[in-house]
Amino acid sequence: MTETNPILDKAPDTDSDAGPDGAFLRTRGVSKSFHGRPVLKEADFRIGSGEIAVLIGKSGSGKSTLLRVIAGLEEPDAGDIDLAGETVVHDGEYQDAWKDLRGQIGMIFQSYTLWPHMNVLDNLTIAPRLTLGESKGELLERAEQALTEVGMARHLRSRCTQLSGGERQRVAIARALMMRPRLLLCDEITSALDPPVAAEVLGVLTKLKEEEGIACGIVTHDMAFASKAADRICFFEDGLIKEDVPPEQAFNDPQTPGLRAFIDAVR
Ligand code: ADP
Ligand code: MG
Repeated sequence: MTETNPILDKAPDTDSDAGPDGAFLRTRGVSKSFHGRPVLKEADFRIGSGEIAVLIGKSGSGKSTLLRVIAGLEEPDAGDIDLAGETVVHDGEYQDAWKDLRGQIGMIFQSYTLWPHMNVLDNLTIAPRLTLGESKGELLERAEQALTEVGMARHLRSRCTQLSGGERQRVAIARALMMRPRLLLCDEITSALDPPVAAEVLGVLTKLKEEEGIACGIVTHDMAFASKAADRICFFEDGLIKEDVPPEQAFNDPQTPGLRAFIDAVR
């Protein structure tokens, strides 16, 4: 299998960092309203280590909000979140364990979030330099490793403005890897890319799941990817997961009227 990888603190281990049910991440009854309008309504969701869970659902159904709540970018109103077997949110309140574990979550967005005036190396090292205070030598090695993981090793010194859209998103994944995440949340990261380029970028996530045991939660409209690469399809409707099934079942035998209509519309 893979050699020891300096990107990861720990060797991939699908059991020890999971909860009792084997999930690395679990939300239970997570709710969130904006201006009195409920967007998440007691949402239950889980992702195991080394698993890709693809979230699908209509625009405005709350997919991004769920990922943002998990990543700590929005505060939930109610519910519990377990991460790596620890309860990090209880009854909507952050617990002490959150401080230690939040660094295990990486999130990547649709629009390019790289600093355009910096080169790739500086984009990759700025956060660990500021937050972890790590040495340049160590970070250089880790940046090379992270770029190798996403097939961008030769672009260490490239300016971000010279990269194509697909290359930028691969650098964005590499930048998330610099923080050694055990959970990667990807919100429509390929929506602005042509289908073949999107497939390459999403292929990187499959590799990370398989080789590093990273748990991936992915919002995408790319149904070809979802049917091929997802371990589970989670259909989101009216603020909660209505169906959580393997892709064969989601596409061939949807149980809820909402998922049936969604699959018919995208087919
Ligand atoms: P999706 O990602 O499925 O398209 P979102 O989670 O982005 O859905 O949005 C769900 C609903 O929540 C939308 O109606 C959106 O306008 C609303 N919403 C999301 N974030 C905020 C916010 N920060 N303030 C107010 N409303 C928001
Ligand atoms: Mg969204």
